[in-house]
Amino acid sequence: MSAAAPKKDPAAVEADVREKIHLEILKRTGAYHANDHVLLPSGQHTTEYIEKTLVTTEPSFTEGLGAVIAKHFAQWPVDVVLSTGPGALILSHCVARAHPSRPIVVYGAKGLSGGKRKVSLPVEFHRLLRPGTKVLLVEDLVSTGTTLNLLIELVEQLGAHIVGVGCLWRRTSVDLNGRPVFSLVSRDFPTYSPDECPLCRKGVPLNEEFVRRRTHRKSSSVQEPKAS
Ligand SMILES: [Zn+2]
Repeated sequence: MSAAAPKKDPAAVEADVREKIHLEILKRTGAYHANDHVLLPSGQHTTEYIEKTLVTTEPSFTEGLGAVIAKHFAQWPVDVVLSTGPGALILSHCVARAHPSRPIVVYGAKGLSGGKRKVSLPVEFHRLLRPGTKVLLVEDLVSTGTTLNLLIELVEQLGAHIVGVGCLWRRTSVDLNGRPVFSLVSRDFPTYSPDECPLCRKGVPLNEEFVRRRTHRKSSSVQEPKAS
């Protein structure tokens, strides 16, 4: 007599498969690194890392991922896709392009004020977010949700209505005050302090490349010559 294996809910299995596909796409762009031993800027160690800047470098991948987000929200009318900032704008464009409502695309700006995060909306966009406007927020990676919550507050102050939030990746612990969130990947990186890191214990070499890149490598630039 054999005990039947516990059956997983087919919808959960499908979600798992989809997530694996999306992770594979992110890996192919070079943005997602797995099975590594990475030093994070915080000093913690982890096995996975995502380089935000590389996420939307492959147009056909971005279009495909944007279409998945659009399909999820296709049942609700959307007037405006609001990108959290210029970083998520390419993805936002792809979401808007694939949504049946043919929404327009606008973007916010992130900044700091007295050490606190703030978001703003260029003044030219104000007339596009009116009372009753249906807004779909799009972000690439959501780690704490602070920026999104600020943007939600801003949109609601203008009287517009949040349809939901679509993103490529979110940490599972993120709370957006009960707003509907759809993410292609929903996953936390396990992080370890160096003295408790199982990879250090196993003697796996530590990859400091990403931290070093942030602190020592400058982006390349050229400047207009000074007038003589
Ligand atoms: Zn370690």
